[in-house]
Amino acid sequence: MAHDIKKYGLTSQTIHAGQYPDPTTGAVAPPLYQTSTFAFKDCEEGAARFAGKQDGYIYSRMGNPTVARLEEAVSTLEGGFCGFATGSGMAALNTTLFALLRSGDHVVGTNSVYGPSRMVLERDWSGFGVESTFVDTSDAAAVEAAMRPNTKLLFIETPANPTMALADIEEMSRIAKKSGALLLVDNTFATPILQRPIDLGADVVMHSMTKFINGATDVVAGMVVPATEELARRIRPKHYYLGACMDPHQAWLVLRGFKTLALRVRASQENAVKVASYLEENPHVEWVRYPGLKSHPQHALAARQMKGPGALISFCLKGGLDAGRTLLDNVDLMTLAVSLGGIETLIQHPSSMTHAAMPREERLQAGIEDGLVRLAVGCEDSADIIADFENAFSFLR
Ligand SMILES: *Cc1c(COP(=O)(O)O)cnc(C)c1O
Repeated sequence: MAHDIKKYGLTSQTIHAGQYPDPTTGAVAPPLYQTSTFAFKDCEEGAARFAGKQDGYIYSRMGNPTVARLEEAVSTLEGGFCGFATGSGMAALNTTLFALLRSGDHVVGTNSVYGPSRMVLERDWSGFGVESTFVDTSDAAAVEAAMRPNTKLLFIETPANPTMALADIEEMSRIAKKSGALLLVDNTFATPILQRPIDLGADVVMHSMTKFINGATDVVAGMVVPATEELARRIRPKHYYLGACMDPHQAWLVLRGFKTLALRVRASQENAVKVASYLEENPHVEWVRYPGLKSHPQHALAARQMKGPGALISFCLKGGLDAGRTLLDNVDLMTLAVSLGGIETLIQHPSSMTHAAMPREERLQAGIEDGLVRLAVGCEDSADIIADFENAFSFLR
């Protein structure tokens, strides 16, 4: 690929980054190299590849041309040094932790991060001597107070899941740097279309590509994007050895989705703006959290840090747990399912689903009330989504 992709806009980049025609056949769609291993011409070539003296592929856990295209695509959009594709978002997180942490290290994280991200740190990494403290990362003073001399990683999710609380990435980067810690940002919710954490000082960005990046709700996948070559050097061998690699077919599918990322993010965001206003006017709704609404406590930060408010909305029903169940049992067009970022609208109830394993007190502390509903707005006609709500709300009377 001869042209400099970075001079183009983000939409052009999603369509063209890593997507150049196949150099051998001219195929416009990326070929699927479904192979575990690669032949060498002779022993000398094999030796040169292993020694890192010659570019080329060796074995698909260590690199594959189809996977490499996806790594190039996502890291280009994130403005990172390179990408490491993983079999899932959790594999992306664990690869990062495996590469950057040792026994005796400490992590400070967002209190309402994706449930399993918090659980693996608290329940499993703690067993290897890695301690973690979870705080409200929308409160910079709380983050600063939680930092310790052995804090090696500040791990934030912004917007956070499912409270929609934001963390100021530039501020978090300053705090991390001052303490000699690295800043890891889970950018799954915003995607590089709406937020580029590396531009704001993040050291590593991770994704669950299961969500917006793939967008078709048919693949589980993840990505780690380090900002620098030095970090890439630390992560690369751990990515090989942990074995959290991505299958070429998985990469090929995600590449298809990636091309329409910008279009999907904008279409679902346009719907979300309308749905959020509708919900805010609804008498059954106690409050709505959406960074695009003036009522969001960090509306100004969202406007500064993000290119748009995104497609995720949280709202709380006045009737608590029962109202949540009734509403969700009566939707028709919307699908009752966890996950987000797909072309279809998904609705879920964190206190009985994603965050049910969390003790109620901790849940409430993290802002996850009983009546909280998490909505991932898709690309359907907005009028149909609103009509679906009108009908489901009628069962609450
Ligand atoms: C889904 C999700 C993950 C985990 O990703 P998987 O692909 O399910 O392993 C991590 N972070 C966030 C914000 C997510 O939404």
